[in-house]
Amino acid sequence: MHLCPSAGRAVVRVDPRFTSQACSQCGHTCRENRVSQSRFVCQSRGHTANADHNAALNIHAFTEKPRNESRGVGHSRP
Ligand SMILES: [Zn+2]
Repeated sequence: MHLCPSAGRAVVRVDPRFTSQACSQCGHTCRENRVSQSRFVCQSRGHTANADHNAALNIHAFTEKPRNESRGVGHSRP
């Protein structure tokens, strides 16, 4: 079986550990946020969530992030 070299290009550059430790509400990232396998408690703001749901929100936020920020706000202004 031969794998096309382009097959790997769709890999999302999101560290699964990061998404499971980052708060989807405020962005606070700390491994203490992940209090258990299934429970997420933000150590910064105190909000709680299902760990999988929180991680899914993070992954969604990363992949949905627009890439056109380089158009700049104010860079080309006189
Ligand atoms: Zn938070």
